[in-house]
Amino acid sequence: MDQDVIVVGAGVIGLLSAYRLAQAGKSVLLLESAAVGSEASWAGGGIVSPLYPWRYSPAVTALAHWSQDFYPQLGQRLLAETGVDPEVHVTGLYWLDLDDEAQALAWAERHGRPLRSVPMSEVHEAVPSLGGGYSRAVYMPGVANVRNPRLLRALREALQRLPNVRVVEQCPVTGFVRDGGRIVGVQTAQGERRADQVVVAAGAWSGELLATLGLEVPVKPMKGQMILFKCAEDFLPSMVLAERRYAIPRRDGHILVGSTLEDVGFDKVPTEEALQSLKATAIELLPALAGAQVVRHWAGLRPGSPDGVPYIGAVSGFDGLWLNCGHFRNGLVLAPASCQLLTDLMLGREPVVDPAPYAPTGRIV
Ligand SMILES: Cc1cc2nc3c(=O)[nH]c(=O)nc-3n(C[C@H](O)[C@H](O)[C@H](O)COP(=O)(O)OP(=O)(O)OC[C@H]3O[C@@H](n4cnc5c(N)ncnc54)[C@H](O)[C@@H]3O)c2cc1C
Repeated sequence: MDQDVIVVGAGVIGLLSAYRLAQAGKSVLLLESAAVGSEASWAGGGIVSPLYPWRYSPAVTALAHWSQDFYPQLGQRLLAETGVDPEVHVTGLYWLDLDDEAQALAWAERHGRPLRSVPMSEVHEAVPSLGGGYSRAVYMPGVANVRNPRLLRALREALQRLPNVRVVEQCPVTGFVRDGGRIVGVQTAQGERRADQVVVAAGAWSGELLATLGLEVPVKPMKGQMILFKCAEDFLPSMVLAERRYAIPRRDGHILVGSTLEDVGFDKVPTEEALQSLKATAIELLPALAGAQVVRHWAGLRPGSPDGVPYIGAVSGFDGLWLNCGHFRNGLVLAPASCQLLTDLMLGREPVVDPAPYAPTGRIV
């Protein structure tokens, strides 16, 4: 049976794109080469903010702000529909010893986001587990983290409840089906599948897949490793971040510490070197973790792109082909706005944000 839309890749971007398109009345076939939600979207930390939001372009900020405001509703809606709680956990975030604090404060003022300098005595009172080696802090109270593996499970269950969505796992897409200048489907290990429109949401693999059409889309894997601890529920009340490394508390006392940024192709084997380095970070941030067990260590492949600006929109010269990929370090926070924008564009609706900065046209060869 043919469908309106094929979505390639079931990470957060493919799942949420399928959910939005299906809610808008489209019939959707979601094809996943491995298991739903088992790659970067599972491996990420789930901070619902770019790590240093003021260092990004207005394009990333526009998607981030829309998504941040939308996340609580998304969490509640998925919980109500599926019984799975994505745990949108508002903890606030402390940035420690920033060297561009003035820029951060000016950016926040411009965007109307509450960010303030906090004396260290106040930080230690609020986060008693924090290490002693820091001299300055800024705090943003509204920042949340989402329990991304639960978010993925909730999205999967929400899709299973929709009659106009089919999800097929273990089904790698190997190429596209063309009819003149149009893309009319995909080739898979299990044969051809046809649809009026095809969305590539294949994360770090998107560049490789689009190369089969002769397109050069600079989306490439950027490895990241994380470690996990289990502590008392009140061990860490807020997220803390210093020198590009962070600790994230889940509601049940799990603490994630990340992450590395490695340009090593599609290798996602966790390394001893990263384990030691992340442990050292953990102890520096939260000295009591010196006595705690690392309960898990993993790696994932971020979909790296120039300046972290995703590709969202139609590909000119290939009618019927759409991209939603290249979210780099921020795919979890950017997902709601990115998938809403894609759906708006595909349905010819007024777009939720100005689509120009993300348009593939002019950015790919
Ligand atoms: C260590 C780490 C920490 C991170 N922390 C954060 C954070 O705190 N906040 C944040 O916002 N972001 C974070 N990220 C980034 C975020 O995880 C990614 O940007 C996001 O998950 C990308 O989602 P995606 O759906 O594009 O990719 P993925 O989740 O990788 O999904 C792509 C899917 O496509 C499938 N696929 C690939 N090729 C094919 C094919 N040919 N046919 C069929 N299916 C295919 C893959 O199997 C995969 O399931 C982090 C990432 C890492 C690795």
